[in-house]
Amino acid sequence: MKKLVILGSTGSIGTQTLDIVRGNPGRLEVMAIAAGSSVEMAEAQVREFHPVLAVLYDEKAAAALKEKVKDTPCRVLSGMDGLIEAASMPAADIVVGAMVGMIGIRPTIAAIEAGHDIAIANKETLVCAGHVIMPLAREKGVRILPVDSEHSAIFQSLRAGGHEEIEKILLTASGGPFRGKKIDEIRDMTAAAALKHPNWDMGPKVTIDSSTLVNKGLEVIEAHWLFDTPVDRIEVYIHPQSIVHSAVQYRDGAVIAQLGVPDMHLPIQYALFYPERVYLEEKRLDLFDTGSLTFERPDTGTFRGLSLAVRAADRGGNMPVIFNAANEAAVKRFLKGEISFLGIYELIEDAMDNVTFSEDPSVDEIFLTEKETTEYADAH
Ligand code: MG
Repeated sequence: MKKLVILGSTGSIGTQTLDIVRGNPGRLEVMAIAAGSSVEMAEAQVREFHPVLAVLYDEKAAAALKEKVKDTPCRVLSGMDGLIEAASMPAADIVVGAMVGMIGIRPTIAAIEAGHDIAIANKETLVCAGHVIMPLAREKGVRILPVDSEHSAIFQSLRAGGHEEIEKILLTASGGPFRGKKIDEIRDMTAAAALKHPNWDMGPKVTIDSSTLVNKGLEVIEAHWLFDTPVDRIEVYIHPQSIVHSAVQYRDGAVIAQLGVPDMHLPIQYALFYPERVYLEEKRLDLFDTGSLTFERPDTGTFRGLSLAVRAADRGGNMPVIFNAANEAAVKRFLKGEISFLGIYELIEDAMDNVTFSEDPSVDEIFLTEKETTEYADAH
């Protein structure tokens, strides 16, 4: 039995991770779940999966959950201390990092320090703290297993060759709901339009990030850390069908890709059982049905999320933190109708030009940068 801790158990990745647990009886055991504030969902998960610990970050929600599950032996905790306690439970084997945002950084570090493998879906953690996480994971002999579909595809394709044989990484992107649109057509796009993603069913933050290409920018930086590859060797391809999930080109010209239907269960399950491939009862890819697969260059002049991310990665230090935190603040304001779609880029760029830069930020400094950036982005 592999013992799991799921951070972000009520979100999109978390609930699909629990599908994998359900689909593999006797092989996976949930030791702890953690979420933000969804009392009802957390209660249902406690009753179905019997974790010994449940954490809700929100204190009031945790108190409500505690009351609801008092007939069970499950302990209930709250706040960052609760998340860290869940992440570092001695009995765990693997921690699924599926929280959205920088809140995942400290629990991920705690899990690595406890010697647990990490199945990482929380891209902000690597984007903002990759320079802390990756050396620490190497030092502790911990595996960082990607859960993001593209990074899982790269990870799977990397089994075909050695690290020194990689020529470049081909990272695919669906292009989001506004693909092909010109700048005048997207200027006044509403949150409702941006929330309609054509292929993937994801949370609202990731869906907006997909429409701006910020998500792809974060993924380029994530791939840079996960696969120890310079950003200029990671090339983004717009691939609207979302069938080729990403690929690796080797120095002899061979391109090895992973293909499949757009479904997160495979990358989640692959990370949980790596290096074993386990039967998965999901729809199979039918290439006769799929027909043609197309690829386009991203329109980085219009959808500047990608170019701003590359700029942040090239600068290094805390610049990816500024990029990410400014985007988080901007997306919140966009969803509230306070700024326009293009305003998201303007706010990110402004913050990158104005927030204090630092070369090699510690974890505390990462959060100071986040605070300064959020304050800047909320005030401009
Ligand atoms: Mg992705």
